[in-house]
Amino acid sequence: MYVVAFGKEAFIVDPCVSWDACECEELEVKAILCTHGHFDHISEAESLISRFHCPIYITPQDSEMLSSAKLNHSLNFGLKIETQAEPELFQKAVYSALDLGFSSDCFEISVIPTPGHTSGSVCFLLTCRQNPDEKYMFTGDMLFAGSVGRTDLGGSFSEMQNSIEVLKQMDDSIVCFPGHGDRTILGQEKKYNPFF
Ligand SMILES: [Zn+2]
Repeated sequence: MYVVAFGKEAFIVDPCVSWDACECEELEVKAILCTHGHFDHISEAESLISRFHCPIYITPQDSEMLSSAKLNHSLNFGLKIETQAEPELFQKAVYSALDLGFSSDCFEISVIPTPGHTSGSVCFLLTCRQNPDEKYMFTGDMLFAGSVGRTDLGGSFSEMQNSIEVLKQMDDSIVCFPGHGDRTILGQEKKYNPFF
């Protein structure tokens, strides 16, 4: 899980850590964004939504995973992780500029469809408006440092290959924050990641 703050306003990427463990008491969470619907990425969605009364965003393809322990695979692990919250669905109109209602508009947030790990997996790209060369991307389980996500839990390897091609077209300098493990630089992945 990542907490991205602009001043006191924040959004969360992949709600899977208890808020009390985050030591971010001063922040107001305005939105929760999901890179995909697997249970290990949404396990704290219910508690964070009831705490902040904020919207949760996910793709239409992965939306049913929020409310189904079977579809989000928590049932396979003897867990029942579900939220009944009605999600906001990413639509094509917001792909280039997602408006989360922040006072600050220093970063533009784009939704990049990157199916493969799940059919509705996306990455979130933050571009600094003052310096468009400064970019950060939350890649969920699509891209890890030196690897990519598995495709056997509701995904497709051929879609993953197409998504890798999408990332290959993006700037080398993008700092990537995966859903698990260390951060990386996209240019490094293009050079050294065996899946690229
Ligand atoms: Zn996953």
